[in-house]
Amino acid sequence: MNSKILQLMLVVILATTPVAMAQQGKAQPPSSLRLYVFDCGKLDIPDITPYQLKKEEIATNLMSVPCFLVAHPKGTLMWDVGAVPDSAIPPGGTGTLRVYGTSTKKLGTQLAAIGYSPADITYLAFSHFHWDHIGNANMFAKSTWLVRKLERDIMFADPPSPRTEPANYSALKDSKTVIVTQSDYDVFGDGSVVIKSAPGHSPDHQVLFVNLAKTGPVLLSGDLYHYPEERKLKRIPTTEFNPSQTIASRAAVEAFLEKTHAQLWIQHDFMGTAKLKKSPDFYD
Ligand SMILES: [Zn+2]
Repeated sequence: MNSKILQLMLVVILATTPVAMAQQGKAQPPSSLRLYVFDCGKLDIPDITPYQLKKEEIATNLMSVPCFLVAHPKGTLMWDVGAVPDSAIPPGGTGTLRVYGTSTKKLGTQLAAIGYSPADITYLAFSHFHWDHIGNANMFAKSTWLVRKLERDIMFADPPSPRTEPANYSALKDSKTVIVTQSDYDVFGDGSVVIKSAPGHSPDHQVLFVNLAKTGPVLLSGDLYHYPEERKLKRIPTTEFNPSQTIASRAAVEAFLEKTHAQLWIQHDFMGTAKLKKSPDFYD
């Protein structure tokens, strides 16, 4: 093969990568399932006593705040959208919310880098309604919101819950909404992306199963656990909505992990998340 042909082949390959697509415009649906991880900041937890853990028992008090994009041949799903909204992040600076939540990278910019605009996203779902998971929700008001009844009810309750920031998701009130009633909700109908009920941390807390061809199955934890030490030492935070539900949900999820051999990604695990490949790289 001469070098001209090789060069041409390389151009064709490069031109069809998502990054190149981003430069040209829109990302195309991938031929197989992908999971992108975005850096949506961190939480510098000022007081860990509510987690029933002592300083000497944990590796760090910091918690990661990742956001996730699942890209399926039939559509896309955003799972958790950060704490600090993009609008609060100054160019080149740090955005802060509730003193200890910070972010330096805009989610919108990270999506654009792989060719997605929020208007392209098919579905939006949160593990739960707390402020550190809904930061950029308004950006996805045109997506179809997959939400369980008790979560939606508490999000629009009057007075609002002090555990969230209603202004950051107010636009979802009029979004196309699917009230999820099934314990397991199969997002794309082929079993590869399943939202699983795991209540306790919040009234209708949920976790996300993503069955990737090369990586294997992955389960995104939501806040079923925060610190990885909660799992190891079997500690239940004092601030859970319903601790006995948390115990039952943890037991069900652990049994599911054993059965499926899925990896558990604890979303707030600072060290664990630091090791994950970040977008534009992805898991497939
Ligand atoms: Zn959280």
